[in-house]
Amino acid sequence: MPKRRRVTLGLGGFVWLASTRALRADAPESPQAAGYTIHPGANGDDCGNCVFFLPDHAAPARPGRCQLVAGPIIPSGHCFFYARR
Ligand code: SF4
Repeated sequence: MPKRRRVTLGLGGFVWLASTRALRADAPESPQAAGYTIHPGANGDDCGNCVFFLPDHAAPARPGRCQLVAGPIIPSGHCFFYARR
């Protein structure tokens, strides 16, 4: 039984490592390459309601971060990768 558990944890660690390496390989994109702008897109599409946006919960008024685009990200901004939450 203990051997089986070790195998499961090992596989989970491998999946986690592979996913973080994949993210690092692809990201972050530069704001320019992503077409990032501080203005919202059509239909009110903005970073604040994008699946990739990571708000600063400690200081909601400050810019957050993005899983795909480098640098501080303003919630009212927008880029080519926008995906509604
Ligand atoms: S992917 Fe684009 S629209 Fe979405 S949070 Fe990042 S910068 Fe904003």
